[in-house]
Amino acid sequence: MRKNLHPTYNKATITCACGNVIETASTKENIKVEICSKCHPFFTGKQKLVDTGGRVDRFNRRLNSKKD
Ligand SMILES: [Zn+2]
Repeated sequence: MRKNLHPTYNKATITCACGNVIETASTKENIKVEICSKCHPFFTGKQKLVDTGGRVDRFNRRLNSKKD
């Protein structure tokens, strides 16, 4: 078994905006992504992080003000 056959692959961490950290091997050390398999709507089936909470808050506030 020969060594140095492959380019140096270091242990890399992919950090997602949702806080999920994936460990992988890459020529780059640290990679930052905004969406990963854990929070992507395609995988989760929910629109959790994609839809920023502000919109819902504003909507609820409008509903409450109408009551009064
Ligand atoms: Zn993520």
